[in-house]
Amino acid sequence: MTLIVHKYGGTSMGSTERIRNVAKRVGKWVRAGYQLVVVPSAMSGETNRLLGLAKELAPQHHDEAYARELDALAATGEQASSALLAIALQAEGIASVSYAGWQVPIRTDMAYTKARIESIDDARVRADLQAGRVVIVTGFQGVDPEGNITTLGRGGSDTSAVAVAAAMKAQECLIYTDVDGVYTTDPRVVAEARRLKTVSFEEMLEMASMGSKVLQIRSVEFAGKYRVPLRVLSSFTPWDIDIAQEAQSGTLITFEDDEHMEQAVVSGIAFNRDEAKISVLGVPDRPGIAFQILGAVADANIDVDVIIQNLSKDGITDFSFTVNRGDYARVIDLLKTSVIPKLGASDVVGDPKICKVSIVGIGMRSHVGIAAKMFRVLSEEGINIQMISTSEIKTSVVIDEKYMELAVRALHKAFELEQAAA
Ligand code: ADP
Ligand code: ASP
Ligand code: MG
Repeated sequence: MTLIVHKYGGTSMGSTERIRNVAKRVGKWVRAGYQLVVVPSAMSGETNRLLGLAKELAPQHHDEAYARELDALAATGEQASSALLAIALQAEGIASVSYAGWQVPIRTDMAYTKARIESIDDARVRADLQAGRVVIVTGFQGVDPEGNITTLGRGGSDTSAVAVAAAMKAQECLIYTDVDGVYTTDPRVVAEARRLKTVSFEEMLEMASMGSKVLQIRSVEFAGKYRVPLRVLSSFTPWDIDIAQEAQSGTLITFEDDEHMEQAVVSGIAFNRDEAKISVLGVPDRPGIAFQILGAVADANIDVDVIIQNLSKDGITDFSFTVNRGDYARVIDLLKTSVIPKLGASDVVGDPKICKVSIVGIGMRSHVGIAAKMFRVLSEEGINIQMISTSEIKTSVVIDEKYMELAVRALHKAFELEQAAA
């Protein structure tokens, strides 16, 4: 029998009516002869609600102080939605069982709130499938080597689904969400955004890492590493639409540069307002400063993004980088207390109200002048660029947060993304 993994996001699981709808859709696939593993997210708003309760009780703490408990707390959202889905399926006459991450188990490292999946034991799930049951596995969570519950970072249910599909060698992983595929940019920001029928794995990886939250980046990494066929599609189509039509809908992530792929120079625009800029000023310019600053940040398990070291003047330079906004206060603290004094730098300043806007496209490899066009468009809108970073297939700029939507719309228009590539 063919095994398929379905993932349903928070909005798709957002009410008992929607859960019933998911159950009916899953039932359709089961009756068509597929084996199904279903990975649900928490009901929409639930993860925020739970984390908000924790914040009420400990507003003055950095998250790390109680990270273990945050994970134990947040993981309950997916446990509830998974059990509800199992109940809804049984009410539809479909045998099903739900498992929390630790029951599978999905093994992760010990990095609370951003754990990585290390292995998945599929014996229990396989036995249930063999016995004719739909298996529901909670998204977003796992268990560390000491038996603690961990979570995989916001949006992590995508990663759970792809990892389960990879471990079980599923034929396909279908990510059902509240939009009908991957668009040229977030359709909630640009009404003219266009759905892509296919998007290459590399472009999807860049879009996700630059902030398109339609897929969590680690899910795309998993899909690439294990070649998991991955499709993003809508959970809001009528549940009883023709299964062949449903299986072809949405956006397919492709792994080969075949000629059927759309060949736009720029395929998409991603943005992320979840970043903050930090500058260390008056740093003596000598070997090892980048390591001393960023090494300390890395040791605290904090990801750094765009990095800039200025030209030095009189042996003194400035060093700037961006981090996740949630890590901002902690990084400033860390630099002030342990790095600045050692380094002999003069000060640390920062700005948490920045955003990053990126244009992404495989075609950028073979076309020149794309970045320059981006800078021109932004300058025509009067938007000041604070930092720039590039890779082979993307250019990102850091700008003031208040210009984000303006920048995205102007770029979408200038690169004619609302029109399909020839
Ligand atoms: P889910 O709860 O199903 O995981 P998410 O909210 O995490 O859903 O992701 C879907 C959302 O991603 C969409 O509602 C949309 O606003 C946003 N999004 C951002 N960039 C894109 C894009 N390029 N294409 C489609 N959706 C995007
Ligand atoms: N419920 C988690 C979140 O809100 C995981 C997910 O939805 O993918 O981030
Ligand atoms: Mg999501």
